[in-house]
Amino acid sequence: MGLNPRGPSPAPMDLKRHTSFIGGKWVEPSTGEFVRDLDPATNQPIAEVASGGVEDAKAAVEAAVAAFENPDWRGMDPSKRGRLLNQLGQAVRDAFDEVARLESLDVGKPIREGKGDAAFVYKTLEYWAGMADKIQGETIPVPGARLNYTLREPVGVTLHIAPWNYPLTLAIRGVAPALAAGNTVVLKPATITPLTALKFAELCEKVGVPPGVVNVVTGPGSTVGKTLAEHVDVDSITFTGSLETGRQIMQMAAKHVTPVTLELGGKNPNIVFPDADLDKALKSVLFGAYQNAGQMCWAGSRLLVHESIHADFVKKVAERAAKMRLGPGLKEDTQMGPVVSKEQEQSVLSYVEVGTREGAKLLAGGKKVADGELAAGNFVSPAVFDEVTPDMRVARDEIFGPVLAAITFRIVDDLIDVANSVEFGLAAGVWTKDLKTAHTVAARLESGMVSINEFPLTFPQTPFVGWKHSGLGHEQGMDAMRFYTRIKDVSVSLE
Ligand code: NAD
Repeated sequence: MGLNPRGPSPAPMDLKRHTSFIGGKWVEPSTGEFVRDLDPATNQPIAEVASGGVEDAKAAVEAAVAAFENPDWRGMDPSKRGRLLNQLGQAVRDAFDEVARLESLDVGKPIREGKGDAAFVYKTLEYWAGMADKIQGETIPVPGARLNYTLREPVGVTLHIAPWNYPLTLAIRGVAPALAAGNTVVLKPATITPLTALKFAELCEKVGVPPGVVNVVTGPGSTVGKTLAEHVDVDSITFTGSLETGRQIMQMAAKHVTPVTLELGGKNPNIVFPDADLDKALKSVLFGAYQNAGQMCWAGSRLLVHESIHADFVKKVAERAAKMRLGPGLKEDTQMGPVVSKEQEQSVLSYVEVGTREGAKLLAGGKKVADGELAAGNFVSPAVFDEVTPDMRVARDEIFGPVLAAITFRIVDDLIDVANSVEFGLAAGVWTKDLKTAHTVAARLESGMVSINEFPLTFPQTPFVGWKHSGLGHEQGMDAMRFYTRIKDVSVSLE
């Protein structure tokens, strides 16, 4: 059995070894390989995780197909399926501390954010539990003596490829409606943050989800992810991740004309007008930029401030950013954790260099923490760039780290041009007490989500939508169910 070492030091003897969950069983990887999962705060291993391959991916799809064909699942009273989702929600509530802790440890995020993630998971399961017996078709008036009606049926095997920044939250927002509709599921978590998906598999086993209904298979995107996405028996793909991989997934999906939902990147404007509650805006700007060390598709990574308050507001942002307490996620007073990996750290630091080279003014942070007990981890101090112009890369690229780019604006038309000038269109924040300004700006923003006087904000019941290169289709909210069902029209002659 091989070990593909990702960590700098040997794994302690008692490191927990995780295998994939396929067909209701914990299965050794066909490759015989495991990878070490690292704590981003120390780069020490915290677990060993199966690095599955093509055969594991195929086995997971086969198990999901068999479970979909099994009358125990197909024929299950939808109310009972709803109860099962509620039981899963309850199981996550019961394991709340552990789920929150695992997420915090694996991603590096502060524990209070891990708790927020765990809560979002059970709320999502409970939201869709209530939907399981309300998925229905309609009758359609047609000419002549005939009855015409539609059925909403499950699509079959749904594939969920998840990213590393909110590993379980983002997986469950697709998995829960898929299950509510009666599909069977294959979930592939990101290689570097698989622990909560595997915990979820354990909870599925515990509450008695029938074997094969939920399969969690771990391994590289390039083999496991690709095999899954190109598999002829996968009936839908829900992908959350980078734009680049999203494009590849679309091409893979084209092979069998498999429907896709893509949730991709963002470079979101947080817009502050002079009449706003500036204290509240300040807090939210910091939260929107540095939550999860800025590794969020919905990060408010562009701060657009009116010229009349720009200098003072941005100065305050920089002062507060410079005072943020960095530390391991599990330390209670940590305000910002490390970024998830050495690769991500390098990528963020290189963007700080790019910004400086482009002529933006670095007011705070942007440095690797190289001294003391944080030196071994992937800590980058929260960066604030001022004097950013919309053409700079720090104003256009999704950095996916704790880097905020401040831009100034004078009139609303210019503001809208700048806000809409990037390829992404995911979320936006608008801060003003003036209703007309708020709604006019919201209407003109090319963004799937706009929050007024709060940012960022989402609930299981509200659509999470990316426009432009931020995505295709959407998750969350009742309409998301359409993706996990297919419609059938039935026409009956009454002659
Ligand atoms: P990523 O694209 O590198 O990986 C996402 C997933 O795809 C992982 O599970 C990975 O293993 C898998 N994958 C990689 N290559 C693959 C391939 N060739 N075939 C199949 N699967 C493959 O993204 P990431 O770095 O994990 O996440 C960060 C990105 O996710 C950012 O761009 C961020 O904006 C985006 N994101 C978007 C949302 C949203 O809802 N819009 C939410 C969170 C993150």
